[in-house]
Amino acid sequence: MKIGVIGTGYVGLVTGTCFADSGNDVICVDIDEKKVQRMQNGEVPIYEPGLNRVFDRAIREKRLHFTTRIEEAFKESEIIFLCLPTPPGANGQADLSFVLDVANDLGDLFNKYPGYKVIVNKSTVPVGTADKVKEKIAQKTDTEFDVVSNPEFLREGAAVEDFMKPERVVVGTTSEKAADLMTTLYEPFVRSGNPIIIMDERSSELTKYAANAMLATKITFMNEIANVCEKVGANVDNVRRGIGTDTRIGKRFLFAGIGYGGSCFPKDVQAIHHTADEYGYEFKILDSVMKVNESQKVSIVDKMKLYYNGNLEGKTVGIWGLSFKPETDDIREAPSLYITEQLAKMGVSMKAYDPEAIETFKEASSDETLSKMQFVEDRDSVIDGVDALIICTEWNEFRRPDMDRFAEVMNEPVIFDGRNLYDLDRARDAGLTYISVGRPSVN
Ligand code: NAD
Repeated sequence: MKIGVIGTGYVGLVTGTCFADSGNDVICVDIDEKKVQRMQNGEVPIYEPGLNRVFDRAIREKRLHFTTRIEEAFKESEIIFLCLPTPPGANGQADLSFVLDVANDLGDLFNKYPGYKVIVNKSTVPVGTADKVKEKIAQKTDTEFDVVSNPEFLREGAAVEDFMKPERVVVGTTSEKAADLMTTLYEPFVRSGNPIIIMDERSSELTKYAANAMLATKITFMNEIANVCEKVGANVDNVRRGIGTDTRIGKRFLFAGIGYGGSCFPKDVQAIHHTADEYGYEFKILDSVMKVNESQKVSIVDKMKLYYNGNLEGKTVGIWGLSFKPETDDIREAPSLYITEQLAKMGVSMKAYDPEAIETFKEASSDETLSKMQFVEDRDSVIDGVDALIICTEWNEFRRPDMDRFAEVMNEPVIFDGRNLYDLDRARDAGLTYISVGRPSVN
């Protein structure tokens, strides 16, 4: 099939590359000229495990092309995916301007190149957006077309695998013709029997928000259990194992930590809360989820203040991990941004390392914060001569360091671990002061 993809960020680039890999001809469009140039030169502009290999193959076989001109992607394509940003607006609602501006352009292009096409909203968009996009296009053209909702569930860090083997594909459309085309396109990805679930547009749009809000709630619930564990002297790891074996609860997404971040959970929780509000419904659970997560993100700073009796000025602290989760360079809404900002304000100097996210972190941080930070190229250089170490992201390479080295090279072997990476006994044996989340402190 001939496919157009508009917007080549984490979602668009993975979508375009994976569709090309399954034999389709794909043209991707982006307004970012530099990014397009890099992709035209065969370079993947983001860090995403496994993407390079599939991307290289698709380019070699000439099934994946890049352009800044939407017209080029439009004219031949049977299906056009909108993978555009939907950032939070002033009141937390999703900002639809990127999507609706492109819909407006599509209307003109339908006039120039008439003929049936399916326009697919792959961006996470509020209920009613398929109708809005349809309306925008229909204002400009009489050509037959359909607008379909097809939310994306990939996880950054595992995006290629998630796209290639989705647990389910959700397609929101009441048009049989569009449903048939979408089914044909996705069949190669669900050969092992996972479902393509066809439903109406509004339910499909809401499904994406319900999934992210449920996951954010699950994480937040465990973070609150961890906070209670700290008060009552229990260990959240034990509680997690105790409840995760109940199949109604499940083992995944039960790890306590310093809150959720990323480009999706924070904005999607806000957006569905806002939608509910617009329709006169107060989504109370999500009110709490947002509040708890705000404080959880900086809970490590509170623990540091307690440990140092409020006097952190002049300390030098190491930071392991900056990205919002491992296996990505994405820094959007990462707890590290908030922690480093607060520490910089308190006069703390920082030495930081992340395997992939140093550049994106620098772009997202203020000069004031950066002026207190030094970046190093490996994990071990971070801890030389620092007064404490903070672990913000659970990259694999942080899981099994030489535990004895902490006491050898740090000024004081104090670790504030936001991701619960170490066994408490191992930390004790290594002579550490080890303060983690929801578990007894080791002194
Ligand atoms: P992103 O910011 O990484 O990428 C968006 C891309 O669109 C950028 O490259 C930008 O230059 C481009 N763009 C902006 N305006 C354009 C225009 N007029 N024409 C062409 N290109 C344009 O965003 P993302 O993370 O890929 O997310 C896209 C959507 O998918 C969002 O709605 C997001 O909520 C949703 N989503 C994201 C993820 C994720 O893990 N990142 C997962 C599922 C769903």
